[in-house]
Amino acid sequence: MNLLTEPGPVPPSTTSLRAESQPSIAIIGGSITGPTLALLLHQAGFTRVSVLEASPSPFAQAGGVIGLDHASLATLETLGIPQAELAPFPSERVTTIRIADRKETGRVHSVYPGRNTAWHVLNSALLNRLPDTWLRTGNRVRSMSIAGNGQALLNLADRTSITADLVVFADGRRSIGRRLLDPTRPLHYAGYVAWRGQLTGNRVGIQDYTRLGAHGGAFHMFPIPRKNGDTGLDWTFYLNMSSEEFSRLLGGDPTQRTFIQPHHVPPMASEEVISWAYQLFPEAVAETISATTDWYATPILDIDPPQRMVHSLGAAHALLLADALAPVRPNTAQGANNGIEQDRALAIALGQHLHHGADLNAALDHWQQRLLPSVHRALQEGPKLSAALGLGRPLADPVPA
Ligand SMILES: Cc1cc2nc3c(=O)[nH]c(=O)nc-3n(C[C@H](O)[C@H](O)[C@H](O)COP(=O)(O)OP(=O)(O)OC[C@H]3O[C@@H](n4cnc5c(N)ncnc54)[C@H](O)[C@@H]3O)c2cc1C
Repeated sequence: MNLLTEPGPVPPSTTSLRAESQPSIAIIGGSITGPTLALLLHQAGFTRVSVLEASPSPFAQAGGVIGLDHASLATLETLGIPQAELAPFPSERVTTIRIADRKETGRVHSVYPGRNTAWHVLNSALLNRLPDTWLRTGNRVRSMSIAGNGQALLNLADRTSITADLVVFADGRRSIGRRLLDPTRPLHYAGYVAWRGQLTGNRVGIQDYTRLGAHGGAFHMFPIPRKNGDTGLDWTFYLNMSSEEFSRLLGGDPTQRTFIQPHHVPPMASEEVISWAYQLFPEAVAETISATTDWYATPILDIDPPQRMVHSLGAAHALLLADALAPVRPNTAQGANNGIEQDRALAIALGQHLHHGADLNAALDHWQQRLLPSVHRALQEGPKLSAALGLGRPLADPVPA
């Protein structure tokens, strides 16, 4: 019985990962949540773990600044990832500048209780530490069904399949797991887009995480290390945009085209975004954007609050984590942090099952009860935080059909 299938060939072979002594675990997604969980499971003594990543090259994806809170940094440190590797720049201080008529009207300084890193720095730090045989890249999970022995059966794009006792979906905003396990919670467009880019050098000479806010747009910038070792500047331009405008500029619905890579951003779209930057912000900001050659876009998405993270599948369990469970608005800086918190608690629950014979259903149920409230909180807070910047659709608005 195929529960959900994406187009693709029928797999001819099956490799069982079942271990006699411990559950076999398949983790879908090799970005942040998936590899963090894999390393925590490795540390907890699990040996039968696979991380399945659709992207062919683990470091191929672009990614911007990720603010990691103290709890996430501590979790990563227990995995042997020192804070200095993730955050080579001092990054607690945040400067927030208010803009009206393209001019500064005031600024405040605050402190972020954590450190900022860049997605590619974090992703490399995690993947470099995975046990050799655990990561399978270029392997999109296409469908899931129940095998004859009750395990979950995952069919992969390379025409193979694997079985597992526990399937963890950490496959992001368009999660195949969510579409299968919780199909009544579709994504809704939040009414604004995060345009992001990176430049070599730090042309504006900033040291702090710097945020400029004008009504209807916000510009964030932060110095980061580039892949080649140079210093760079990472920027994000949050800009209001109707769904129709998004489709006109980027050729698809924002709930379907959830990540637009640089080569897919047409000149017409970048010209329009640059023109908005000139209308909202001082010239130096707009020039930073127009000097960037490779930039990409992420429409911001909302979703109804999840009621559960754990789903039964034959004799197996399937779990939804982080953005696969519920993408939250980036202004909360909670998406990756929630994922790492879920990972840590899950590794503890599974460790209790492995080492002390704890009842797996009870352990997973307890994990879910503890972790769901922070997801609900972030889903509630996101629209309020963005509304304060004049961004996006307020929570009270009717959700478009
Ligand atoms: C502009 C912006 C700023 C943000 N800032 C912050 C911040 O400061 N702090 C914070 O905590 N969070 C932040 N976030 C949120 C954070 O980026 C996400 O929550 C985080 O990336 C989720 O990580 P993940 O590993 O769960 O999923 P993702 O990073 O989305 O990765 C999912 C992975 O699964 C793979 N995949 C997808 N489908 C399949 C499949 N069928 N088979 C196999 N593999 C598959 C993908 O290729 C991808 O590698 C921000 C988000 C945005 C858009």
